[in-house]
Amino acid sequence: MSKQGKPGRVPEWFERGRIRWAWGGWEPPSFYLRAGSLSGGVDGRALWAPRWWEHLHSEKHVAAMAEIGINLVTTHYYKGFGLEFEAEEMERTRKLVELYHQYGIHVLGYCQYTTVYPEALMDEVPDLAEHVQYAPDGSKRLYGGSGYFRWQWDLTSPVFMEYLKRVVSNGLENIGLDGVEWDGTVFSCYCDRCTEVFRQYLRDSYAGREYELFGLPHFDHALPAPQISSSDPMYHAWHEFRVDQMHGTLRELYGHAKSVREDAVFATYPPAPGLTRPDRDRIMPWSGDYLDLATSECHEMPRVTEDGRLVCAMRHLKQCTAIGVPSFVTAWIVPDSGGYRAPETANEVKLSIAESAVYGGHPFPATWANRPLGTDGKALYQDPARGGALKSYMNFFRDNEELYAGSTPLANVGVYYSLASVDYDREGALRSLQGIEQIMLQNQIPFRIYMGMPEDEVFDTDLVCIANQRLMSNVEGHAFRNHVAADGGLVITGETGSYDENRRGRADDVLAGMGTHAKVTRLEGFPEACEAGPEGRVSPLHPYLPAKHREVAAAIAAGAPRGLAVEVRADAYVGVDLWRTADGRVAVHLINYNNQAGPTTVSLRPATWLNADVNRLELLTPDDDTAVQTRDDGSVVVTGLASYAAVVIG
Ligand SMILES: [Zn+2]
Repeated sequence: MSKQGKPGRVPEWFERGRIRWAWGGWEPPSFYLRAGSLSGGVDGRALWAPRWWEHLHSEKHVAAMAEIGINLVTTHYYKGFGLEFEAEEMERTRKLVELYHQYGIHVLGYCQYTTVYPEALMDEVPDLAEHVQYAPDGSKRLYGGSGYFRWQWDLTSPVFMEYLKRVVSNGLENIGLDGVEWDGTVFSCYCDRCTEVFRQYLRDSYAGREYELFGLPHFDHALPAPQISSSDPMYHAWHEFRVDQMHGTLRELYGHAKSVREDAVFATYPPAPGLTRPDRDRIMPWSGDYLDLATSECHEMPRVTEDGRLVCAMRHLKQCTAIGVPSFVTAWIVPDSGGYRAPETANEVKLSIAESAVYGGHPFPATWANRPLGTDGKALYQDPARGGALKSYMNFFRDNEELYAGSTPLANVGVYYSLASVDYDREGALRSLQGIEQIMLQNQIPFRIYMGMPEDEVFDTDLVCIANQRLMSNVEGHAFRNHVAADGGLVITGETGSYDENRRGRADDVLAGMGTHAKVTRLEGFPEACEAGPEGRVSPLHPYLPAKHREVAAAIAAGAPRGLAVEVRADAYVGVDLWRTADGRVAVHLINYNNQAGPTTVSLRPATWLNADVNRLELLTPDDDTAVQTRDDGSVVVTGLASYAAVVIG
């Protein structure tokens, strides 16, 4: 067992800073044909679609990917129609994998975790209806709520796990895949089997607390909560049960993949707090022990909107850094007019790749590049403007892997996500987390995220910000007191700690009395809270900068006991992060999110305790005409920052 109790290992080439990923046609043609609709920017049912599909399977295409600098793709493998019916298309995948390998490109096979197509799969599993998920009213749970021809495997069915193990074995042994990537990780089933498993989970997890937490004599007739309800203790237990089932099955499948091939890459969704849809709750565990590579699927491709919002995927990358797993962002642009689209300009392409560089060298993504361009069998990367930007950026990252590989974060401010608050005080927690992150982003304060308590209960940033995390356990409170006792700082806002982790109100908050401590800053009210978007809810597509952002940023800067790791002066659309390179130098990464408005100037000064010699500078950038110099006062000035640059100091 390695770090985080993971079996097996990852391959040599698999490291933050060394992975350049592209979507490689991960849906099989039968998916498009059966759906009959546009999906992921692909009209796969069109009469011209086979031409594009042929292109994606051609040597010319594979060679082009290699030339661009791509070294990892995800392509089609198992969509849920069944191993028998999909065998022919899988044979095509096998040949494509061979071709990719000849060009030094690794391949993940796209797999569906729960979605199944009964119209095909019932040839193999005639009693499929016994092994799929059911809603509280006894109807089948359907993909997207209404996809009557897409049912969903039930996680408590042994047939489900046995089948997916065969999918994994076949992919790794016969198709030659370097790993598997899972989509469709959903679970909320009310069948008799799941109800019984849930009751046993309750007995195991809450023995002796039946009355204290639920007001019940026992769990023999306990009812799974039919809807999200933060105040319902049975909903809490039901939610934790579902996450536990998801975690358990993913861990089992992960272990199976590593037993088939010890360096197989296992990719799926990270535990991103997806709080913006009222009909969905979290299903992935807050842990990095069930995956090697995280798919941050979102609609937050970086850009500045017409009304001045800075939309970006920064928080997804930082959350994945927090769980110790590299993440590729599969993002689209959502215009205010609706729908979603691929990047259309070179500037948009550059930002979409550079953001992964800034925040730690996460796998550089090209989720859009292989979608169709026109109707004559081309893909979007063949468009000169977009393709040129893609190639120049990917080539730059290919040639500068050492800037990122083995690097460690230097930001000395942290944002604390309390698990219970995020799950059971959804809106309150989210508006404060999103707001304080946006404040730090747009005031150039590098920060890290804590997804719950560090394993050793020790925070390794000088300052921890706890933004209105209402639900908090005594263990968390104890850790924060220890942090302050060890000369760490805290910035606390709102009603942090006013409930326990079970959402029971406290007589006094868990951090009571800390407000008078010199290293603890209490901000009254919710000055960091983000306003709701047009849907009436906080949304990452509407990350409004709170009106009091400067005051909050100043409090954070003043609250860091040794000062910020780097002081930066720039406009509100410059993003900054700070990493120690493997060879011991300090790398300040800069992104100009407003690159369509032209280059900008940034002035920065690393903290003296970083021991970075500002007279020894190296500028690394894929852009033209960016320059750096050290002024007499010791500040470092970057001029002509077009989209991305790294200043390496020392
Ligand atoms: Zn069930």
